[in-house]
Amino acid sequence: MARVYNFSAGPAVLPEEVLREAQAGMLDYKGTGMSVMEMSHRSAAFANIIETAEQDLRDLMAIPDGYHVLFLQGGATQQFAAIPMNIMQNKKADYIVSGSWSKKAAKEAKLYGDVNVVASSEDENFSYVPDVDGLKFDEDADYVYICQNETIYGTRYPKLPDTGSLPLVSDVSSMFLSEPVNVSDYGIIYGGVQKNVGPAGVVIVIVRDDLVREDVIPQTPTIMRYMTQVDAKSLSNTPPCWGIYVCGLVFKWLKGLGGLDVMKRMNEEKAAILYDFLDQSKLFKGTARKDCRSLMNVPFVTGDPELDAKFIAECKDHKIESIKGHRSVGGMRASIYNAMPKEGVQALVDFMGQFEKENL
Ligand SMILES: *Cc1c(COP(=O)(O)O)cnc(C)c1O
Repeated sequence: MARVYNFSAGPAVLPEEVLREAQAGMLDYKGTGMSVMEMSHRSAAFANIIETAEQDLRDLMAIPDGYHVLFLQGGATQQFAAIPMNIMQNKKADYIVSGSWSKKAAKEAKLYGDVNVVASSEDENFSYVPDVDGLKFDEDADYVYICQNETIYGTRYPKLPDTGSLPLVSDVSSMFLSEPVNVSDYGIIYGGVQKNVGPAGVVIVIVRDDLVREDVIPQTPTIMRYMTQVDAKSLSNTPPCWGIYVCGLVFKWLKGLGGLDVMKRMNEEKAAILYDFLDQSKLFKGTARKDCRSLMNVPFVTGDPELDAKFIAECKDHKIESIKGHRSVGGMRASIYNAMPKEGVQALVDFMGQFEKENL
């Protein structure tokens, strides 16, 4: 067996302990004589899996009682539509566009109402997060939307916008459970799990009770109504059972480590290894502005596409995989999610140092 250091942006690295535990239960989950993959979603064993997963997530994020936790399908992208369909009663929403994901979300919401882009960082290829101080929001807007960590450009909001009484909706896909958040700051906080939490196929939506509404846009499919899923406790139809199970194992893993404060400290330590190297390097440079750098996704370039390609090719010899950057930034991107061990980041930085000596 040869595990690599997997820097993929998503689907992405999972904790080895979790993979081993899933493997151990593959043929016979806890004496049921079957895999979780083969099990009825109405069974007692699965009821226990989803209820435990929800409780562990509530513990980890300190989710207040007034919020519902939904385990859904369709990815974060389906939520780009589900959010306006469910909560755009005035047909108005304010979006802050800080990268491709918030731009796509804004475009989708336009199908359902007026979308006002209150700030954008597209002028500098989304290398920063717009300053949120002094932003004015429409009093009649149904919500304010952000993507809190832009996976492609490697930026993260240094602080949240003050939206007053307007609900803040945040896509946290690529920073989910990487650090503590104050759930009460949000109306909806959601993310696809395949970046930092589990296998592809699950999106977790944490929604405040007053945003679970009957008066949704009339054509909203029944399955996409938050009310349907809240009433059915995410079991309106067959949920992504296996994915939810593995997310639950990751929640236990995080609790075992000491929770999100500990995880944040570990993530800061890992990110510092890479950023400190980039800041002194004469060959490589980070592309995101320093005050809004992500702890999770770190894009960097040499400035010479041929040298970038050479670096990426040689990474293979050092067990460094999936380091190629997204085409809209170019160069490299190291996604250093929760499950990336510190040794992986160290191995990357060691090789970057060696490559710099050989190629400068
Ligand atoms: C990957 C990603 C998405 C899209 O997720 P899907 O599950 O593929 O729909 C949306 N937002 C962010 C921030 C992402 O990183």
